[in-house]
Amino acid sequence: MPDTLTNPVLAPDYNRTGIDYRRPMPRPKVHGTVYDFHSHLHALRHADAWFASADHYGIDVFLTMCQLEDALGLQRVWGNRMHFIAVPKWGEWEGNFVDRWLTRIEGFYNIGSRIVKFWFAPPAIGDRKWRLDSDTFRPLIEEARSRKMAIMTHIGDPEIWYRTKYTDTAKYGTRDDHYRMWENVLAGYGELPWIGAHMAGNPEDLVRVQKLLDRYKNLYIDCSATRWMVREISAHRDEARDFFIRNQDRILFGTDQVSQDERGFDFLASRLWCHRKLWETAFVGQTPIHDPDFPEDQQPTLRGLCLPDECLQKMYHDNPERVLKSLGLPV
Ligand SMILES: [Zn+2]
Repeated sequence: MPDTLTNPVLAPDYNRTGIDYRRPMPRPKVHGTVYDFHSHLHALRHADAWFASADHYGIDVFLTMCQLEDALGLQRVWGNRMHFIAVPKWGEWEGNFVDRWLTRIEGFYNIGSRIVKFWFAPPAIGDRKWRLDSDTFRPLIEEARSRKMAIMTHIGDPEIWYRTKYTDTAKYGTRDDHYRMWENVLAGYGELPWIGAHMAGNPEDLVRVQKLLDRYKNLYIDCSATRWMVREISAHRDEARDFFIRNQDRILFGTDQVSQDERGFDFLASRLWCHRKLWETAFVGQTPIHDPDFPEDQQPTLRGLCLPDECLQKMYHDNPERVLKSLGLPV
């Protein structure tokens, strides 16, 4: 084994424990297509490594967020393995960005997209001064409604960031503010499927997430974001397992895999490896992915939930297909 895989300081961030990501792993024990409901395949040039890792780990179809220009190329070659989630042209917030965003939604709709994503993590609120429940954003949400599209929102962020990066509450607001902002809107759109990204943005507080699920029957959550889920789900493993079993009809499997030019098979595989170990197995051990939020000697332990087969069947297949079918999308 090369030094880089045995010496944690030299090892790549995506493989601190020397795993051979090319070792065969059986597909998830699921009948039918396996869906990743939250991902970011950004460009056609990333697709070969992306689908090589996806095929190796048994993930068939991706709901992906990328720029419209890249979606066109991806759809031409890989259209049978992906659906697009409509996002704005990132970084262009000056002037009348809402009109341009509306045009983007139309463009995505025209290539078959039926989900619109709104990113409202604390920096959207603190740096851009956005509020999802403001008049500025109402036309966008109304556009989704009139087109019978689903909505995905990112509200919240890791609790550890609220304690480090977002302590200026005069600027960022509090986590409670962020969820009030969300609920002010959520309450008015009960007929649309609504997906709360990253365990509704608060896997640290499953009581909060449970209340949201109980209150809003149209709400689904995805379990995406690898390092975040690995550390928080593992940290209260038994409670999380009960939560998943209880809410098995409302959870969509997702990775939040993000493609980039320098991310090859092993990087991408590391995310899929962790998710599959976390949800499907009783693995207990150091996570192979370095977590930059913790010092070297306090890296998280991954504790698998070993979810029952029927629960995995729903997360990976049944729930995603139910949402896609309700939007009139082919499955
Ligand atoms: Zn994402």
